[in-house]
Formats: sequence, structure tokens, C-alpha cells
Amino acid sequence: MDHLLTFIILVAFFLFYWVYYTHQRKRVPSTHWEELPTQAQYLAAHPDAVDGKIVFCCHCGHHKQLEVGLVHLADFRREWACAKCKRVLFRAKDD
Ligand SMILES: [Zn+2]
Repeated sequence: MDHLLTFIILVAFFLFYWVYYTHQRKRVPSTHWEELPTQAQYLAAHPDAVDGKIVFCCHCGHHKQLEVGLVHLADFRREWACAKCKRVLFRAKDD
């Protein structure tokens, strides 16, 4: 009976650390990216920065943006930066 109790305690600790560890591994440290507004939030904050489908930079008024990956080219976390002043305007996510 003592062995069974020890086994149950060990399994419980193993499960706890396994869940804890995998949860930490899943969390991608992307707080900078998560702080950026989405396109909808950007347009809501700058209603004058859109004309039909054309989105303008709120800093310099340029009408073209560059879509870049956060860490590398194929990153699913995308940043839209102004092509002229290179400031990041909003974020997007590849589905
Ligand atoms: Zn700009």
C-alpha cells in the first residue's frame, strides 16, 4: 500500500511538471508584437489614415506599407511598417 501511495505521488508530481513545462514551452515571448495594434485597432485610432482600401502612415502620410515577419521572413507574426519612414504601424497574423 505504501508503494502505491508513493507511486501516485510521483505520478502527480510528474504530471504537474509536465503540464507546467509544456505550458511554458508553448508561450512565445512576443510581448512587443502583442503590444502593437491590429489593423482594425490602428484604423479605429486613426480614422483619417484610410481612404477606401488604401491605408496611410499616421506619422508621415505615406500610402505604402511593408509586410515583414517579426523574427524571420516566414514568421506567422507579421508587422506592417511604413515603406517611407519605416515605423511599425500594426500587426497581423498569418492563418
Ligand atoms: Zn511613415
